[in-house]
Amino acid sequence: MKYLNEFRDGEAARRLAGEIRRIATRRWAVMEVCGGQTHSIIRNGIDQMLPTEVELIHGPGCPVCVTPLETIDKALAIASRPEVIFCSFGDMLRVPGSARDLFQVKSEGGDVRVVYSPLDAVTLARQNPDRQVVFFGIGFETTAPANAMAVHLARRQGLENFSMLVSHVLVPPAMEAILGAPHCRVQAFLAAGHVCSVMGLRQYPPLAERYSVPIVATGFEPLDILEGIRRAIAQLEAGESRVENAYERAVTLEGNAAALKMLDEVFEVTDRAWRGIGVIPRSGWRLSAAYRAFDAELRFAVTGIQAVESPLCHAGEVLQGAIKPHQCPAFGRECTPRTPLGATMVSTEGACAAYYHYGRFLDDEALASR
Ligand code: SF4
Repeated sequence: MKYLNEFRDGEAARRLAGEIRRIATRRWAVMEVCGGQTHSIIRNGIDQMLPTEVELIHGPGCPVCVTPLETIDKALAIASRPEVIFCSFGDMLRVPGSARDLFQVKSEGGDVRVVYSPLDAVTLARQNPDRQVVFFGIGFETTAPANAMAVHLARRQGLENFSMLVSHVLVPPAMEAILGAPHCRVQAFLAAGHVCSVMGLRQYPPLAERYSVPIVATGFEPLDILEGIRRAIAQLEAGESRVENAYERAVTLEGNAAALKMLDEVFEVTDRAWRGIGVIPRSGWRLSAAYRAFDAELRFAVTGIQAVESPLCHAGEVLQGAIKPHQCPAFGRECTPRTPLGATMVSTEGACAAYYHYGRFLDDEALASR
């Protein structure tokens, strides 16, 4: 497979790890922002190839994990309405709300459907003019353009029975919030390659300069990640803090012009709450005034919801890199993929799920209970 196999070569990976070992003279902490990168790191044992001088800290870049509990509860309330067909990507169905999840709503008779594209939800709205079709629009800058396109299309087709529950978040403000936190240990970032492929690299130089932190746009295959780490460590050792592109086959300075135009038309920047982290100023998108009529929150007036997070869940600390998943007391005990207490154990990009699925750091008791 072109652009995959050549980035999974074991010998080249060992050479890169050796180069990192050669240049790292003291301890450095590098955060991979994206949950997809976290899974690749754990699945491929990249963290175990690195010298003890280099610590990888897992970041908040999992769209399912950071969707606020209150928004999940709103989704549950909307999906329970008899006139609604509620559409979502499969990941969201098992994410626990305050009292239940979308699977439970489905088992109780709710019309909850898994779709593979937001455009499928638009088609459903066209095919079911007597029903209200709602799409759960979550995610980072990567999924936002397709979601924006769906709303744009619905308006163009005059569909009055389509709406979107929007909870989009933006990566750079979250990176800034992490850097500004008093307990921050992050000294360099591997920026998420797919986010950069949409947005370009323009947003990062001010951040790199203000916080003296190297930022390397990095892909998802083992060699991509090792090369990103190598460049980050080389900068740290040289006392530099630049933005570098280690994912040139997908990322440009300008980003994807068509996607940016669509985002600009349909969304506007807003303050946004992140699950487990709290409100980060100007860290999300909502529908712009011209598209507000497609806002499911307004259409179904889901207000006054009191979200209740599990007191056992430490996902906020996991998402900010303050603890590793296995350091959560509930990991592998009260909390497993079958009995998840937090979204980070459910999502395919969640750090807790990565540690659990690849058996990392489970003790004998937890292993026996699997
Ligand atoms: S292991 Fe479970 S309870 Fe602990 S932080 Fe992760 S999701 Fe939350």
